[in-house]
Amino acid sequence: MILTYKVRHDRDFSIELAKARQIAQFAVEHRTLSSKDVKHIGLKSIIANQILRKYTHDRKSRSVTKVKLSIPAQGIRFSHEKREITIPCLKLNLDYYFRNDFEKINRIEIGRTYAFISVTVPEGAIIEPRGYLGVDRNTTGHIAVAGNPLTGKIIKLGKKADHTHKKYKNTRKNQQRKGKYRMVKQTKNREQKIVRDLNHKVSKKIVHEAKQNGTGIKLEYLHGIRDARSGRDFRYSLNSWNFYQLQQMIEYKARLLGVPVVYVDPYSTSKECSRCGLIGNRSGKSFKCPNCGHVDHADANASFNIALRPVFVKGIDRLHADRDACKGNTDIHKEATL
Ligand SMILES: [Zn+2]
Repeated sequence: MILTYKVRHDRDFSIELAKARQIAQFAVEHRTLSSKDVKHIGLKSIIANQILRKYTHDRKSRSVTKVKLSIPAQGIRFSHEKREITIPCLKLNLDYYFRNDFEKINRIEIGRTYAFISVTVPEGAIIEPRGYLGVDRNTTGHIAVAGNPLTGKIIKLGKKADHTHKKYKNTRKNQQRKGKYRMVKQTKNREQKIVRDLNHKVSKKIVHEAKQNGTGIKLEYLHGIRDARSGRDFRYSLNSWNFYQLQQMIEYKARLLGVPVVYVDPYSTSKECSRCGLIGNRSGKSFKCPNCGHVDHADANASFNIALRPVFVKGIDRLHADRDACKGNTDIHKEATL
């Protein structure tokens, strides 16, 4: 499985990046794959070739504003012992602090401040689960609530998200009213960054909880989420994009540890009683069952229901089907470097 790590490089590559933009522009205009055609620009041919290949083939890449220096595997040396990556053609050494068990480096892309290092890491052997951890993502006030019906344990995660969303929504509204549209965009980006960090923490907790107890993970198969990025079929309007992001993070973190992820039919998971299966009364955060008398936190009840439902879609299969659409198995990790 492929992971991309982000490492600060502390070098000024502005001249090389300007040349890279020129080459990308040339590729878009002339559709050439021959590095001889761009020799006059003066970027190392091993990098020029990568840029030509990317921008000549990709019809969507009309915009060449964010061109990076792309170095293929054959231009990269590394030492696991010294934790050092070397790119001879740029005379660049990078120390890395991310996991050291990667099998190979596929590619490195270098921008103004960071190097994006794409590595292949081994996946964990899939465990045979002892029951499931049910994860309810459509919760009131939390990013997710996870429940294990075998132990009765409930974990509520990401309480800050709701507060963050409200705060930034207000800020955006004010900025919009004042016509400060650039700041609206900045606010949106800042919020997305915070939510992303939260999703990383929440998904990590969920996957570790499952790993520790030897369970698999069950999520609701939420239709419409897949298309959230394109803006179509917005069934879960609030934060639907973030649900999807959390799902992807759970999937890949689980795969690394061999924890199976499966999906269940979401129909009335929040209304059914997890004890007797009949429809109960949900109001706000509490759930009461008039049939068996069961009383529970509404999200806890929902997460138990999810954990107990039969499997509807297997995670990894679904992931393969969606791979082209969503690049479900990659993610950027932040790495602090010295
Ligand atoms: Zn009941």
